[in-house]
Amino acid sequence: MSSLWEVHVIEFARSKDQPLVDLVNGAPPSKVLDLPFGFVLARNGEKVVLVDTGFLNEGSGAEFSKKFGIPEWISPVRMLEEMGVTAEAVTDIIISHAHFDHMGSISAFPMARIYLQKKEWLSWNEAIALPPQYGFLTAIINPDDMRSAFDAAVEHRLVLIDGDRDNLIPGIHVRLGEGHTLGQQFVIIETARGRLVAAGDCIYSRLNLTGHRHDGVYAPLNNGIGSIWKQLETMDRINDEIAGDLSRLIMMHDNDRWSHLPLEKEVEGFRIVRAG
Ligand SMILES: [Zn+2]
Repeated sequence: MSSLWEVHVIEFARSKDQPLVDLVNGAPPSKVLDLPFGFVLARNGEKVVLVDTGFLNEGSGAEFSKKFGIPEWISPVRMLEEMGVTAEAVTDIIISHAHFDHMGSISAFPMARIYLQKKEWLSWNEAIALPPQYGFLTAIINPDDMRSAFDAAVEHRLVLIDGDRDNLIPGIHVRLGEGHTLGQQFVIIETARGRLVAAGDCIYSRLNLTGHRHDGVYAPLNNGIGSIWKQLETMDRINDEIAGDLSRLIMMHDNDRWSHLPLEKEVEGFRIVRAG
């Protein structure tokens, strides 16, 4: 196996008329967008790796989708099949963080080893046990996803990572990226066109890095439970990693729908683009 990966970004859902200021601090209140939701497929020989999984629009997953106003959805499993990948063939899943739109379909991949930061897993277990007045912290956490992760732990398929790790899988590196959540991680993937960074929700928009005035003053997220200080440190690490080249940054909620990358396929209006 070479350490270079073939990488695609797969769109699977879209919100409707979402105010940008919900996502990026300081955005004009009038600016709304249909926010795309995506995850990453990375392939290398027998290895089939996902960064995040999207969510399933059934049971509690459907309730969360309704609560957060995400009217457009296609099954992430169906989208993978469009790329010739069955759910059983997925060998590894790296979860950026445990929000339902990133972790909500791990139960669909019965063979996969699941990688999560230890701090992410433990902090949510703590937060979910807090009294109801702390509910803001866990508003985007689906307890059923945590149950699925626990099931994977019982089956010895859940791997808890303690901070940065090079070559988690050869050519794939993870970095702790605290801020949006306490144990968020971002993922570096080596490809033929260099190292790409799958940013999870460390970065929602190019504006986070460029600043509203394009002066390079980072704009924090308006959506998270970690500190703004940590968010900016994480953005700085990502900016260093891509050396300011935004074409190497994969944002899971790219509001340009990854239009800078070549389109591989479009399925019922959802895009699959080739990132590397
Ligand atoms: Zn999130």
